[in-house]
Amino acid sequence: MSERIVYLDHAATTPLDPEVLTAMLPYFTQHPGNPSSIHQLGRAALQAVDDAREQVALILGCARRELIFTGGGSESVNLAIKGVALARQAAGKGNHIITSAIEHHAVLHAAAYLEQFGFELTVLPVDQHGLVRSDDLRAALRPDTALVSVMYANNEIGTVQPIAELGAICRAAGVPFHTDAVQAAGALPLDVEALNVDLLSLTAHKFYGPKGVGLLYVRRGTPLLPQINGGAQERRRRAGTENVPGIVGLATALTRAEARRPAEAARLRALRDRLIDGLLATIPASWLNGDRERRLPGNANLGFACVEGESLLLLLDQAGICASSGSACTSGSLEPSHVLLALGLDPDAANASLRFSLGHGVHDADIDYVLAALPPMVERLRDVAPCAPARDAVAVA
Ligand SMILES: *Cc1c(COP(=O)(O)O)cnc(C)c1O
Repeated sequence: MSERIVYLDHAATTPLDPEVLTAMLPYFTQHPGNPSSIHQLGRAALQAVDDAREQVALILGCARRELIFTGGGSESVNLAIKGVALARQAAGKGNHIITSAIEHHAVLHAAAYLEQFGFELTVLPVDQHGLVRSDDLRAALRPDTALVSVMYANNEIGTVQPIAELGAICRAAGVPFHTDAVQAAGALPLDVEALNVDLLSLTAHKFYGPKGVGLLYVRRGTPLLPQINGGAQERRRRAGTENVPGIVGLATALTRAEARRPAEAARLRALRDRLIDGLLATIPASWLNGDRERRLPGNANLGFACVEGESLLLLLDQAGICASSGSACTSGSLEPSHVLLALGLDPDAANASLRFSLGHGVHDADIDYVLAALPPMVERLRDVAPCAPARDAVAVA
């Protein structure tokens, strides 16, 4: 392993904040109770879950009863999509789901799964920067639309959608609206009233909390069928003994992320822009994927013509730089990213793209290190690449 590690893969996961660990530890040791137990150890655990719920409700601007703790982002998304779609179908309120082409696979695969239960799926296209157009949503809504799901911020290209606007369109049509806000926590406001959302998914490990614990906000009155059946936990919407340390960790991490959000977003934006501008200026035939302005503070996704992204990742790794091609879920498969293809990139251009996602541990010196290390790597790969530099043509400006 190289001496220096520059971790630029915060969109895949973030390291646990030591203060979050400290808040969690007593619930592994001193307070081991089951929140459903009547005795004092059970009551202490229940109190911790209640307190965590209150903390999260303050940040989302919702009632405590509108929150469901889950086993992570994928579970929250599955509960939102299957839970609402199946409840609406059972009530005779439709068999049609609308989502977008750049969603995380948790959303796309949950929606596709429902096709075998009689649902029809409309996948909204995005523009060259990854933005969903509100006119496309308006045109796609039908009397039998059961649910709309559009992500808040994209995990690969960082594009931030006009969620409040899309939510208002759904509300006027009387259709529940879910947003996968997993990448937004700690970077963008999460007020569910301002966002006009009926359901919102989060996962703690994307904001310096522990892995394996997530959250689903469900607006009061939204029909939802549980997807894990069993005990009466979470108001009968998600059975199973609560992950007490995880829930405490999620609430602590979200509270800390929210408190540092304005300053941290500004800091990351400056680092991100230095990285983007520096790489675009020094590497010929390179381009930025995603919207320049409507973008997560910590996301830089760039393409380098004539370069195999996977090869570049390996060279970066040898220099201690951890980046990513596509999402963590598709890397290794060598399938071009569905997100980049949806922007209109051809498969070669998609495979020539890398994501750098910044976070707390990243500072100016790390950006300097990448700016110095990366250009010669691209040059090296291009020297051996069987591809003419005329490839610039693939670049999406
Ligand atoms: C990471 C991620 C998920 C999945 O969350 P898990 O906790 O890993 O299941 C879903 N959506 C987006 C946008 C993500 O980035």
